[in-house]
Amino acid sequence: MRRQLSEQIDRRTLRGGVGLRSLLSAVTVLSCLAALQVMAAPLEGAQDGDQLDKPAPPTKIEGPLCPHCKTTGKLPNPFYEKVHDLEENVLYCSYCIEKDKNGLGLPWLVCKRCRNKALKAKAQVEFDAKAAELKAWLAERRKIDAKLDVDEPLLHLQTKHFVWAWSVPGFKAKDKKYYKPHEGLHLYADRMEKFHSDFQRVHKITDADNIHNLHQLFFLERQRHGTVACREYAFMPTPNGRASRQGTPSVYVTWYDRNKRPTDEDFYMELLHNVNHLFTAVYKNSWWLHECGIAYEGGSHWWEIYYTKRAGTRCFVESDSESGWVSKKWQAVVKKAVLAGQHPSLAEILTIPGTSLKTGLHPFAWSYIDFMMHKDPAKVMQFYYVIKLKKHPREAFRNAFNYSIPAFQAEWEAWVIETYSIQEDSPAIPKRLRFR
Ligand SMILES: [Zn+2]
Ligand SMILES: [Zn+2]
Ligand SMILES: [Zn+2]
Repeated sequence: MRRQLSEQIDRRTLRGGVGLRSLLSAVTVLSCLAALQVMAAPLEGAQDGDQLDKPAPPTKIEGPLCPHCKTTGKLPNPFYEKVHDLEENVLYCSYCIEKDKNGLGLPWLVCKRCRNKALKAKAQVEFDAKAAELKAWLAERRKIDAKLDVDEPLLHLQTKHFVWAWSVPGFKAKDKKYYKPHEGLHLYADRMEKFHSDFQRVHKITDADNIHNLHQLFFLERQRHGTVACREYAFMPTPNGRASRQGTPSVYVTWYDRNKRPTDEDFYMELLHNVNHLFTAVYKNSWWLHECGIAYEGGSHWWEIYYTKRAGTRCFVESDSESGWVSKKWQAVVKKAVLAGQHPSLAEILTIPGTSLKTGLHPFAWSYIDFMMHKDPAKVMQFYYVIKLKKHPREAFRNAFNYSIPAFQAEWEAWVIETYSIQEDSPAIPKRLRFR
């Protein structure tokens, strides 16, 4: 591993640094881009990565050769090699910045005994700039610790689309593996980036369709810390320690409530459900979907089921605390109702806001969205968008699907009877929407 990294540095740096992009992206895309502007200058016109397998053009090295770093000015950072698997897609991680006193978790260190003083000086300038950037980021994040008045420092982490504040203790996940706090944070950060990528792929949208692409997530150990974060960062005075600020800023705060959410999968579902609310709220404008319970809750349940095969999160659970609604058998619930003619009509359920959607209606909200996703996930985003323009949900539906509501409902009924299973535990994901 060390040899690989060292060779990677050699091959790329010696050719003028174009290939340094992929190496540094492990640490930070932003500063990488800045570095590229400086480093790539001598090779203007070269295509990224197009010459990796061709012999490098001879590059004239000024000054003496250095046997320690093979005349690059840089040595692989042993700390980074140990955490590489966790950190490679991360922009900033407080754990690395603080644990690695010498290298702040960067992929390379300056060759301190370098025989080539000019290269050493150049590497030092680059290192110092990155170190300053990492420390400035962490100093800003530590202000959150002070506001929350925590006993132990929080873990902070930033990926391309999320910035996390985390104080969840170690836990056993669904894969039976025990995750220490830092590993648990990375598990969730990876899950949410994957969700972001799947959401956009399935709905056929890109970052450019959103008004912004950075979501702030607070997952804290104690309710009292959550309550402060709700007030200070979501700007919502919710005493239960959970808050969802949808749009600008985009913030979700929760805490490690093992009574309500006994397992890792319960928290995963909670995050999927609520992060879906964040994603839909930043699509094209800054507004949420709560006026239409199908879109708001049905859409979030669809993604919970997509990943975990069941739905278990209620946004407004405090106002409607009927128990026992978490079920794996939503297909059966819906199909039995349709067969018995006891299902809510699309016309009636379309106009119920998320806040008033009763427990028994959630499987139907999910199922109507399920059918819309089956028809065309891109049109589902169009449906959401017209709701976000504060049009009537019926108008939004017709605009997106160009269907009469009774005709669509009749098709949905036939589709439910045809495709849903009464026996099966878990709803099937349509084949073309599954993971690649
Ligand atoms: Zn980390
Ligand atoms: Zn050296
Ligand atoms: Zn919800």
